[in-house]
Amino acid sequence: MVVVMDAEATDEDVARVADTVRAAGGEAFVSRGVARTIVGLVGDVEHFDRLDLRTLPGVADVVRISVPYKLVSREHHKERSTIHVGGVPIGPGRFTLVAGPCAVEDARQTFEAADMAKAAGASLLRGGAFKPRTSPYAFQGLGEKGLEILATAREATGLPVVTEVVDAHDVPLVAQYADMLQVGTRNMQNFALLQAVGAAGKPVMLKRGLNATIEEWLMAAEYIAQRGNLDIVLCERGVRTFEKATRNTLDVSAVPVAQNLSHLPVMVDPSHASGLRELVVPLARAGIAVGADALMVDIHPHPEDARVDGSQALVGSDLRDLATAVRTLPQLVGRELTAPPGS
Ligand code: PEP
Ligand code: MN
Repeated sequence: MVVVMDAEATDEDVARVADTVRAAGGEAFVSRGVARTIVGLVGDVEHFDRLDLRTLPGVADVVRISVPYKLVSREHHKERSTIHVGGVPIGPGRFTLVAGPCAVEDARQTFEAADMAKAAGASLLRGGAFKPRTSPYAFQGLGEKGLEILATAREATGLPVVTEVVDAHDVPLVAQYADMLQVGTRNMQNFALLQAVGAAGKPVMLKRGLNATIEEWLMAAEYIAQRGNLDIVLCERGVRTFEKATRNTLDVSAVPVAQNLSHLPVMVDPSHASGLRELVVPLARAGIAVGADALMVDIHPHPEDARVDGSQALVGSDLRDLATAVRTLPQLVGRELTAPPGS
């Protein structure tokens, strides 16, 4: 059982809930988030029902949930959620494109990619300043310099910025620049990082772990939600299978499954799913058709020179095909393309 406190609840209100539960022989775990405080209850649920916690001052809701992920479940919140990133909505009834370079390499490459993203119909700019690389010898990203470049590209284009944070210690720094914090596939079960982004006061994009079940993915989202942050977008980016023809296998069924189990928006990343430019647009179309709330794609003005993931970056006619897909297909599944801010 979970007690959700009002945004205005005082420390005394929270203590009263915890004390009432403990006096009745139960355990109470208080999670203080930026947006709200949540008290998780462990013990006899029937007994908690009799305590009538809903009538205590400062209590917004008392939720009884059968699944292990509680706050992100549709049992807790029946309506599908819309999350706002720097004012740009991601959620049901609309379709949002996120695009940009896999890694920020320099200002010029980033500005060119940002212009290409906007022209293709994107309303959010992605770009990595801290890169989680499989090899310790590979380019690890520009760090804070990369964040500064992204902030300048945001000023120039008006597109809010999505960027990855790989270490819990970097969360305050990245949150100063980013409109949305990305947690990558390799970090999906880095619980300290999940808790840190949960407390950072910024929306979070949580990629599915490359070997994670959908339930494990939702439990990871619950770690973020438990810190009081429910502004989470799930991102399906392919899982590891026996198949070698693609970098990963895009699990299209994960989109409607996750949307049925959780109220959170679900995004598809066809670039990291396939690793191959020629597959990105077909998989992007599949993502729109299966009902994804958003797509995230890698683009690069000169993929042949890219320092990271050039083989999957869109440019030229492939990018034009993507632009056509995002301008024509969403309406066939009852969605409208999200416009960039200020347009
Ligand atoms: C990325 O989006 O740049 C990235 C590294 O993705 P993933 O974590 O899905 O591999
Ligand atoms: Mn990449």
